[in-house]
Amino acid sequence: MSITSFHPPARILMGPGPSDVNPRILEAMSRPTIGHLDPVFIAMMDEMKTLLQYAFQTKNELTFPVSAPGSAGMEICFVNLLEPGDKVIICQNGVFGGRMKENAERCGAIPVLVEDTWGAAVDPNKLEETLKSHPDTKVVAFVHAETSTGACSDAKTLVEIARRHGCLTIVDTVTSLGGSPVKVDEWGIDAIYSGSQKCLSCTPGLSPVSFNERAIERIRARQTKVQSWFLDLSLVMGYWGGDGKRAYHHTAPINALYGLHEALVVLQEEGLENAWERHQRNHQALRAGIEAMGLQLAVKEKERLPQLNAITIPAGVDDAAVRARLLQEYGLEIGAGLGEMAGKLWRVGLMGYGSNPRNVLIFLGALETVLH
Ligand code: PLP
Repeated sequence: MSITSFHPPARILMGPGPSDVNPRILEAMSRPTIGHLDPVFIAMMDEMKTLLQYAFQTKNELTFPVSAPGSAGMEICFVNLLEPGDKVIICQNGVFGGRMKENAERCGAIPVLVEDTWGAAVDPNKLEETLKSHPDTKVVAFVHAETSTGACSDAKTLVEIARRHGCLTIVDTVTSLGGSPVKVDEWGIDAIYSGSQKCLSCTPGLSPVSFNERAIERIRARQTKVQSWFLDLSLVMGYWGGDGKRAYHHTAPINALYGLHEALVVLQEEGLENAWERHQRNHQALRAGIEAMGLQLAVKEKERLPQLNAITIPAGVDDAAVRARLLQEYGLEIGAGLGEMAGKLWRVGLMGYGSNPRNVLIFLGALETVLH
């Protein structure tokens, strides 16, 4: 055997995530590994909690990164807040609402789907109507930023409706956190999760989560054990809970956490509002270029995500061939359509570190050349 070290090619990641990782984060991750119960590491984790509270705009004590990707963040919310027989309304307007339904079913819960058109925001009126006809609903779950379509839903209004009907909320902010406003306390979100690899521009594999007191009360009142040992919050709280003690639960992914810490320091240095504004500015530049080329964004203006731009593939254009040329000739990765949207959309990410004028211009120039 003569297998040698792996050296990835240079790429510009302009797909739906992972996004380009800030070199500061890669440098932070290469620092020496220390023990995850070392007092210095624990002090770093305390800072991480403060930084995550800032990113989520919350004072929630139970705010921490799950040692696994965004899907585990989704799962930790579902397995802890739902018990067998509980009714949960899931608003689905893309692929990730479908994954929520899978999670609910595997908890033995009863999912009620509120289906919206893929590519549009979740309709608050439909949620209200469904809650009226299902008054025994315990939890409402939805995706704030649907990465599969580029649509942004009105999380504040959806949470307000759910709370008025006495429900807890689970909100997916994998693609929104750091790129669009997410205000956990102001909006009254009970359980929220995100991912490290999108607008935080960290490496994939960590899922920031946050739970408020209402969610914790629900977890404490459970009649049944959480079916997953790893994701059982009553155990994880021994490491991450508010009492300051750090009991061994699992070996933390130490260097990955250095990376997330650095990503959150970068976010704090820029300032959340400035980061949101930068994502909007670069999105508008991309939009202007796309429209000048005679192409169209697929989502209507009011519901567009600035960090995930869904472009309608023009008739007669070979989707896969265009993406392959962008990758081979320009080292540029964009995303294909997912699920129902396969063959209909290109998904162009301008996320975190990758949301910059240089990437906008490189993409527009490369696409123009490939299309003509
Ligand atoms: N939710 C949304 C909206 C996502 O975009 C993704 C990933 O793209 C996930 C959940 C799952 O995250 P991960 O792939 O990190 O498990």
